[in-house]
Amino acid sequence: MAKLMLLGVPAYGHVNPTLPVVAELARRGHQILYCNAPSFDQVISRSGAALVAYPDASASEAEFAKRAINLAGVSVYLLQETLRLLPFTLDLIRREQPDLVLFDSLALWGMQATRLHPVASVASITTLVQEGVPGIVHWPDYPHLIRQALPHLPALQRLRKQLVKAYGARIFPRQAIFPCTGDTNLVYTSREFQPATPFIDDTFHFVGPSILEASRAETEFPWEALTPGRKKIYISLGTVYTGNTRFYRSVIDGLAGHPAQVILSIGHQTALQDLGNVPDNVIVRPHVPQLKLLQHVDVFVTHGGMNSVNEGLNYGVPLIVVPQQLEQALNGRQVARQGAGIVLADTPPYGQIDAGALRRTVDRVLADSGYRINAERLSRSFHDAGGYQRAADVITSRLGLDQEYHDESEACVRRLGAG
Ligand code: UDP
Repeated sequence: MAKLMLLGVPAYGHVNPTLPVVAELARRGHQILYCNAPSFDQVISRSGAALVAYPDASASEAEFAKRAINLAGVSVYLLQETLRLLPFTLDLIRREQPDLVLFDSLALWGMQATRLHPVASVASITTLVQEGVPGIVHWPDYPHLIRQALPHLPALQRLRKQLVKAYGARIFPRQAIFPCTGDTNLVYTSREFQPATPFIDDTFHFVGPSILEASRAETEFPWEALTPGRKKIYISLGTVYTGNTRFYRSVIDGLAGHPAQVILSIGHQTALQDLGNVPDNVIVRPHVPQLKLLQHVDVFVTHGGMNSVNEGLNYGVPLIVVPQQLEQALNGRQVARQGAGIVLADTPPYGQIDAGALRRTVDRVLADSGYRINAERLSRSFHDAGGYQRAADVITSRLGLDQEYHDESEACVRRLGAG
C-alpha cells in the first residue's frame, strides 16, 4: 500500500487530532512515518505510525509551550525551526520517496519541502481558519497584537530573507504563511462551526473533530468520587497554559461550596500545594481523561484551545471559554456566536476573571438549556462531518486509491459478466 509521511509540531493540541487519522490509515494497510519530538514516541507508535525523531532537542514540547503565548514569537520560532528542519525534511523525502506528505499547518518546513520536491501534499489544520474572518478580531485586540509583534518583526524579516536566499521565493505562499496549506487541506471541525472567510476554497475539507478514545494515553481518575445525579463542572486550561495559579485560585474561591462537583485539571506547571485549601466539592488532578470525563459533565470551563472546544461540543457540553491568548479568544467568540456557551475576559491581557464572575456565569449556563441545545446541534454537525474516517478517505482519495478500487471493481464486474 502507500507510504505516507507526516511532519508534526511538538504540542499535544496538534498531535492528538492526527492520531485517530494515522490509526485509521494504518488499519487500511498504509505505512506512516511520523516526524516529531521524541517525547511523542509512545502515542505515535501506539497509533500504528513509526516515529522519526527530529534532529536534536530544540523542537521540544517545552520550547513550543514557552513561545506559544506570543503569536509573533511563535512565528519566529517556527521560522528558526524551518531553517534547521527544511534540509532534514528534504533529505528524508528524497530518501523515503513517500507517496504523500501530510504536514501540520504550523510545520512550515513541511509545506516548503513539498513546494521544493513535488509530491501530493495535505495540510492538517487543527484550528479554526481565522484568516480573513470579518469581525472576529475586535478593536481592543489590535494594540495588544502590535505590542506583541513589534519586537519580533526584525527577526521575522531576517529569517524570511535567509530562507528565500537559500531556497527561492516560491517556498512562501502569496497570502498569509499560517495556516500552512497544501494541495488538500483538512480542518477538524464542521462547516457549520467554521466562520465564513474568503481564505477557504474547494481544497478545504471540514471533516469534524478527529476523536478516538483508544488513541489517548491511559490516565487514572477517581471515578468513584463522582456522585451520580449531581451536576458536574469540568475546568481545564489545556496542556500549555497551565501555569496560571491565579486562575485556579479564582476557580476554587468562586466554586467552593457550590452544589455541583468541580473537576479541575491543573497540568504540570502548578503544584497542588500552591492552591491552598481545596474544598470538598473540588477534585484536583494534574491530568484527567478528558474525553471520558466530558461524557459526564454539565459545563466545561476551558481556555478555548481548539481541541478542548471541539471535544466539549462533540459531547454536546456547553462551554465557558476563558481565553489565555488571542487565538483562544477568537474560538470563544465563535462558541458565543453559535450560542453554545459564553466567552469571558476576552479583552487583552485575556483570562483575567474574578471568582464571583465565574460563579455567576457557571450558574447562568447551568440554568439556561439553550446553551446545551446549541452545543448538541454542533455535536450533530461534527458527527455528520465524518471525523477521522472521513479524513482518511480524503487522504486516500489524493493517493488515487479510490480510482484503483473503482477500476478493480469495474474489472471484477466485467469478469463476472463474462463468466
Ligand atoms: N487534555 C487531556 N487531559 C487534561 C487536559 C487536556 O486529555 O487534563 C487534552 C485534551 O483532551 C485536548 C488537549 O489535551 O485534546 C489540549 O488541547 P487544546 O487544543 O485544547 O489546548 P492546548 O493544550 O493545545 O493549549
